[in-house]
Amino acid sequence: MRRLGSLISALALVVSGCGDDGDDGTNMLVEDASVDTMFGGTDTLGGTDTGGDTTFGDDTVPAPDTGVPPQDTTVTQTSYLCDENLYSETPPSPNASVASAVAAFNASNRVPFIYQSLEARYPIGRYITEQGQLRGAFDNCAEIFLGNASTPVEVMNRLSTVVHECGHSLDLSIGEFGEDTFVFRPDLQLTCKDGDTTDRYGKTFARSLINGDAYAATNPDDFYRDVYMDGDPFNAAFEGGDQGFNSVVEEATQYINSLATDYAFEDQFGGYSTSARDGILTFLWYIERYLKLARESYPGVYQFISGDACYREAVLTVWARAWFYLNLTEGRPALEIDGPTLKPLVLSADLANEIQLLRQAHGCQ
Ligand SMILES: [Zn+2]
Repeated sequence: MRRLGSLISALALVVSGCGDDGDDGTNMLVEDASVDTMFGGTDTLGGTDTGGDTTFGDDTVPAPDTGVPPQDTTVTQTSYLCDENLYSETPPSPNASVASAVAAFNASNRVPFIYQSLEARYPIGRYITEQGQLRGAFDNCAEIFLGNASTPVEVMNRLSTVVHECGHSLDLSIGEFGEDTFVFRPDLQLTCKDGDTTDRYGKTFARSLINGDAYAATNPDDFYRDVYMDGDPFNAAFEGGDQGFNSVVEEATQYINSLATDYAFEDQFGGYSTSARDGILTFLWYIERYLKLARESYPGVYQFISGDACYREAVLTVWARAWFYLNLTEGRPALEIDGPTLKPLVLSADLANEIQLLRQAHGCQ
């Protein structure tokens, strides 16, 4: 059952993940491909696992439900986990030349071009894509999510989707069943205990339950709701929205990569705007709402998340890395559609408080 459940999660992540760029033709292709690979047993990460932040990675059993998350006093106040402004990584290079990659482009073998152009402008994206391609849970993620792109410009317009989906593929391929891995950078990854849904032997609830909260109505044009928050969380059928907290964190992890990649290749868009900032802003909003709903209505679930040092670190890392890229891309209209509407929702005091509560549980002052 464990194996089947993870497979179902994998499929739904893929199906859901394609919604970001309005692509609709490749979902079923990858669903078929992932059926073949998820049972292949490629569950280990090779020699490039540098461990990243391992301080909190191996958590203990959550404390008894006292309503007060346990304190972790090992985090320092200079950590980006406590202050997102302290997060830094080498940013993409949007002005780096891709001329040599373009000159070598081969429409019948596009993967080398993907690697070369990403290496020039977003090396972290190259790492994620290449690792996803080499050991990912889905076969040939880079090629499949390129669709019919047949020119260098068309390919570069698809790279944010490629990195996003290969990121899913990589994360799903790592760790044992019952674990959730988030690869943020070559030197920063986390593997947490399963945060899957309650109705399928997990510890958290269906993400679509946040549709019923007080915040859903504040963004009636939420483009992502139909894609990620679909279905009935209480019926017998499996729908993408049935997935638990792990899937929300995983999508957020990849939407950061989507934004970073689109920032790197913005000069290839031909004047069109993308939803690059919208995606990650929406998922930060979902994470906050999920935490608030858990804390107020599902105390056992909140105890699991807030009492798990690895999940605290995963959320706080997503938050910090997301704001690194949101700040970097502030005021770039080609990288957002509803961003000006979404950002205040994420930063509203009552929802941002959920991040502060996790920081307190993590030992931040
Ligand atoms: Zn996705």
